[in-house]
Amino acid sequence: MEQLLKGKVAFVTGGTRGIGLAIVKKYLDNGATVVLCGSRKESAQKAVDELKTENNSYFVEGVYPNLTNYSEVEEAINYTAKKYGKIDILVNNAGVSARESIYSYDPAEFDKVMAINVNAVFYASKAVAPIMKSNGGGVIINTSSMVSLYGQPSGVAYPTSKFAVNGMTKSLARELATDNIRVNAVAPGVTDTDMVANLPEAMREGIKKTIPLGRIGTPEDVANAFLYLASDAASYVSGEVLSVDGCART
Ligand code: NAD
Repeated sequence: MEQLLKGKVAFVTGGTRGIGLAIVKKYLDNGATVVLCGSRKESAQKAVDELKTENNSYFVEGVYPNLTNYSEVEEAINYTAKKYGKIDILVNNAGVSARESIYSYDPAEFDKVMAINVNAVFYASKAVAPIMKSNGGGVIINTSSMVSLYGQPSGVAYPTSKFAVNGMTKSLARELATDNIRVNAVAPGVTDTDMVANLPEAMREGIKKTIPLGRIGTPEDVANAFLYLASDAASYVSGEVLSVDGCART
């Protein structure tokens, strides 16, 4: 099958498991070199080892900057650009969620969600933009969520952060278009990562009933959207938030 990202260099945050790992694998299978970010050295190394065991010819490396510290993010991005000559694709996928009620919400926890889900997206985008600009262009893709479209009834930081991701996506798309940098987001619905896989079967069945396509999404369903948006097939698509949710929008 044709490799859509041959010769491209990608930097993927939250690439050690779940949706991020599926994106990393999809990009590797399509000929890209990938630098994946984990939150710890061990988790980054484990993901790289597993990928190399699966296919020894994958060009993949792990890094583990603190994504909530601008200097560390900039250092990891500059390291990648220097080692591989450029960065064509940035995926801001790392994210956390919490379902606390506003009556018991610790303000420090709100700040933590915003720091990783919003500030880190800005940090990596700021660090990568001059590299992409000097290379003639690039693609930034952010992981949003279906809750960025209509909110959710608890854990207000999470939907708030994903509304912010959509705003940053649309604004940076306009700002960076003149430098040939496309900026898009993918808004997954309920996706079968560790968190969802561990739910009781009755709860999973209840979730399925809310999804018109009748099943919970897989990480690969979501990764396919990241492949499309990173590829030249999406060369005229920017500022878009693409829902991948089985039509679960209300
Ligand atoms: P996951 O918990 O399996 O993976 C989260 C990733 O983010 C991990 O690789 C983790 O290392 C990284 N991460 C979290 N906190 C970090 C930190 N402080 N520093 C560095 N890395 C950190 O979750 P997932 O379901 O694969 O989620 C990935 C993205 O998809 C998130 O942005 C999430 O909000 C979004 N999303 C998930 C779903 C879903 O149903 N699973 C739905 C919509 C959106």
